[in-house]
Amino acid sequence: MMLEADTLQTSIQKAARLLKQARKAVSLTGAGYSTPSGIPDFRSAHSGLWENNDPLEVASLSTFRFHPKKFFEWFRPLAAQIHAALPNTAHYALAQLEKAGHVVATITQNIDGLHQRAGSEQVFEVHGSLTRLVCTACYTPYAAQEYLEPYLTEAKIPTCPSCAHILKPDVVLFEEQLPFKTWKQAETAVAQSDLLLIAGSSLLVFPTASLPIRALERGIPLIIINKTPTYIDEKADVVIHGDLAEVIPRLALEVLSE
Ligand SMILES: [Zn+2]
Repeated sequence: MMLEADTLQTSIQKAARLLKQARKAVSLTGAGYSTPSGIPDFRSAHSGLWENNDPLEVASLSTFRFHPKKFFEWFRPLAAQIHAALPNTAHYALAQLEKAGHVVATITQNIDGLHQRAGSEQVFEVHGSLTRLVCTACYTPYAAQEYLEPYLTEAKIPTCPSCAHILKPDVVLFEEQLPFKTWKQAETAVAQSDLLLIAGSSLLVFPTASLPIRALERGIPLIIINKTPTYIDEKADVVIHGDLAEVIPRLALEVLSE
């Protein structure tokens, strides 16, 4: 027990040293970052969201296009959980690191907007965001807020005020490409970074999971903090398998305390 605690503290200190030396550190976050906020992993088979559905089918663009009612029914419990969720200590700690200039940008696979709510400013949402809706016919974007209540309580499918077509949550479904501009910004951030902090992503969803390879090709340090191992753990400078809501605040404290 003593040994484990020492090892964790040593790893946190090593990660803190690397972060302090960096000038353009970029963080990459995934579903594990929001599970302490009570949001299930959108793509995980164990989240309970898939019990009666094949994920590749129901969360796909074709289901959305041809059976929107089915899609919106399936999506409702997830939307409700995200709507009720609050940023956790790891979100706030990362925002502090950004404010203090130790992290310049965050690339996230999450669609919940919790990084921004915690105060992070430079956030690239490569899988989109549930805070926006886009008309499927005229492409007008809308803030999701006013459509959310009738959808969550009355199952009312959101429609466009100007052309009456269905509004799509601005999130990346299966069969869909990542948002081009955001993805380019994420790639550029990694190309210009001098450290990559990967937190709460198991690096299973491509192409985002390939970003650490770009970092490795440039020989910049990698820090990985995640509950479970990733495919790139052995190439990282520091690997911590632990609870993000505990580890990230401790890391931030270590970086910011001097
Ligand atoms: Zn429209």
